[in-house]
Amino acid sequence: MACTESECVADCVRRAETLAFADPPPHSIGYMPIYVPRELIHAAGLLPAGLYGGGDRLEIIRGDAYFQSYICRIPRSTIELALSGHLDRLDGMLFPSICDVIRNLSGMWQMLFPDRYVRYIDVPQNFDPAVGGRFWRHELETLRRDMERIAGRPIDDEALRNSIAVYNENRAAIRELYAQRSRAPWRFPLSEAYLVLRAGNSVPPEEHTALIRDYIRGAENDLSRREMDQSRVVLAGMFCEQPPHGLLVTLERAGCAVVDDDLFLGMRWIQGDIPLDGDPLQNLVDAYLTASATTASRYSPEGHRAKWLLESYRRNEAEGVIFCAPSFCDPALLEQPMLVAALDRAGIPHTEFKYSEDTGQFAVIREQAGTFSDSIRLWSAS
Ligand code: SF4
Repeated sequence: MACTESECVADCVRRAETLAFADPPPHSIGYMPIYVPRELIHAAGLLPAGLYGGGDRLEIIRGDAYFQSYICRIPRSTIELALSGHLDRLDGMLFPSICDVIRNLSGMWQMLFPDRYVRYIDVPQNFDPAVGGRFWRHELETLRRDMERIAGRPIDDEALRNSIAVYNENRAAIRELYAQRSRAPWRFPLSEAYLVLRAGNSVPPEEHTALIRDYIRGAENDLSRREMDQSRVVLAGMFCEQPPHGLLVTLERAGCAVVDDDLFLGMRWIQGDIPLDGDPLQNLVDAYLTASATTASRYSPEGHRAKWLLESYRRNEAEGVIFCAPSFCDPALLEQPMLVAALDRAGIPHTEFKYSEDTGQFAVIREQAGTFSDSIRLWSAS
């Protein structure tokens, strides 16, 4: 018997939740947030497995011993995952240059696991093709050789083109999910979309794309979902350590319809399709130089930092912005004053709070978000 639309959506979300917190399967290369060129790993027949910490489902026992108390939680939960055997099936680990914490974590990894493949990916901050582009091509050539060695097979241009096409499809599906959420957030609540996105960290991209499309199809036809009296908000600051799922549920219950966010930004780092003709490695380089997402860990000229946020606010017809960043996250919290100043200049309402991936008490956040949502509606009605 065919399932109803509601049952199909519930089944998708259940599958997504199981996958979202699953250990990486064999023949995977783990990578920390935010961006690595997943196409190169996929073209070698390996699975790029995004590691976003242990969330609120992991008790930290040994991980605390490796880091001081005044940094974010994701490095200690990642170490805990590794020491407790959850990452044993990885064939290697990549640490992209996002912040000092990730740099230190990569050094810690090399000391703890000297026999395993570890690479610190120095993502360029210069976008001149002759400087940053040349450097990035050299990095990608090295990574290509490393992946070939681990996989025991060459990565030819055709395989790389095929992987670029697979990830173009995946990014297109994610863009479609975001567009649908913006159009009708009550049909695609963030608390579900988050699980559907997170599932993509531990399954092949082809499977993830199918899951996203199944979810979109089910949710858009589920007529039991009704429009709710909520304020449309953009969430900013969650590109690395992820908020606990309960926090996203809390925001929705507090009356916030999230119409855009920067969760799992690495999955949609490249904005748009990467061309399939010509030299595929150079296409990866060019896409990084010209089509990268704007975020705190990537250099942007003065004044450009707030542009993405203002554009998102307008494009998604939002009514307010919530800065929601991990405690002690230098990249997110250092850029926040600049973003706040830009919102103030534009007269856009905003509020802010911090979280840790294992935050368990949401009463204060619910009150704050609820008050913010109510005040937006009052202001816009007056
Ligand atoms: S949460 Fe922030 S400070 Fe911590 S590793 Fe990620 S980017 Fe760095």
